[in-house]
Formats: sequence, C-alpha cells, structure tokens
Amino acid sequence: MKVVAAFFTSYLVVCMPAIAEPSCDELNHLYQSKYIGDFSVNREAFAFNRHARFQCGGFDRNYILARAIHDLETLEPRQESDPNYYNDISQVMRLPGNRLSYVGKLVHYPDAEARTIHEGSASAIFFTDRMIQSDERFRPTYTLVHEARHTIKHKVFNGQRVPDEPGHIVCTRGKHKGKRVCDARLTNEADLVWGSGNSHEFLFLIFIRDHPKASKKIRREANEQLSYLATHMFNQLDQGILGHYNVELAK
Ligand SMILES: [Zn+2]
Repeated sequence: MKVVAAFFTSYLVVCMPAIAEPSCDELNHLYQSKYIGDFSVNREAFAFNRHARFQCGGFDRNYILARAIHDLETLEPRQESDPNYYNDISQVMRLPGNRLSYVGKLVHYPDAEARTIHEGSASAIFFTDRMIQSDERFRPTYTLVHEARHTIKHKVFNGQRVPDEPGHIVCTRGKHKGKRVCDARLTNEADLVWGSGNSHEFLFLIFIRDHPKASKKIRREANEQLSYLATHMFNQLDQGILGHYNVELAK
C-alpha cells in the first residue's frame, strides 16, 4: 500500500504541469491588454502599436518580453509568506518615471544585455539584442527582476520617498574583479532585500528554483545562475550561507 502511495505521489509530482506556455493568441492578448500597462512598456521603443501582433517563437523582442512577464505571472506565490513577483515588479515599474524600453545596442555599453539608465528621477530599463537573442530561456525573466531593483532611485511612492537601492560596488573577487558589478554580501533573506540587483536576482532564483510550475529547463538555468552569482557577483559570503540556500559554487 505504501509503495502504491509513494508511486502516486511521485507520479503527481513528476506530472505537475510545468509553466504552461500559453497559446500565441493568448500571449498576444495578455501583452496588449495587461502586460504593457502593468510594466510601463515603451511601445515606440519596442515598435509595437495598439493593433500590432508578434509571432511566437524565435527572437521577436515583444514575444521575448511578453514571455518573461508571463513567467512572473505563472510563478505565483505558493503560500502567504511568498512574494508575488508579478505584483511587486509591476508596482515598481508603474512608479512615476519608470519605463521598460529597448535599444538594439547601448552605445556606451556595447556588451550590455540590459541596463537601467537614470535621468533625474526617471529610470529606463533597456533590453538589448544581446538579451533578446539569448539562448537561455529564463534569462530575460530574472534580468527583469534584477533591473527593476536598479530603478529604485529618487522615487516616491504614496507621497513618501522610497529608500534608494544601494547600487553595485567594485568586485574584489571573482571573474569581474575591478568592475563595478558586485553586491556587498550574500547573506540571509531579511538582509538581502536591502541589496542591489544581484541580491534581488538571487532571491528570485531561489524562489523559483523549487517552484512546481518551473520547467526542468528553467530550474537548471536557475541553479546555474545561482552558482554564478555566488561565485562572481558578491564580495563576501556569510559563513554557512551556501548551505543555507543549498547553492554550490561554480567550478
Ligand atoms: Zn545590476
């Protein structure tokens, strides 16, 4: 009897639907009627008017962005204490002055996949072709979470100043040593939320790594990126923190 129960339990776990890729019609509809507004997408930059449609598959930039936002909606909270990333990131993107934008290549950062650029209290996240054409299924999704953190600079919410995000600091270790792309410390959840983009990206990847709706491919990419972040994108690791998150350093 026990064996049978165990069989059914594992059967159900294995067969839980992973992220259901929506039909192309459905994704187009969600993008036009909901996502563009919820994430302050710059239609002109994405060359996407009110009657436009994207093809699904390939590297169409509107399709890639729509799919990333759809991931945030699909990977919903499983319990009350879980964050709702769709709502949280949408709220950030709808702060006055925030925009989600696109440019083929950033002149001053030709290698950048994505970057947030500030002008006074306005902040625009730019996705570039390097991001749009990434072979990694999940990269645009976690990059959106990372870059959204960078938009929190000179922002006001409900009449209150929102504390600025700390920004990256110069790496003292890892493959980016000497470049200003690291966060200070890989630490517990309660402190990591005060960190910059790498810290928020890390928390998001931990959340989705074990999410029942994340596909195998997404879990694998999340695991690899978690190792990459721990190995190269933080200047200090708290004692025992890798065990706490069950993350291994990259080889
Ligand atoms: Zn960053």
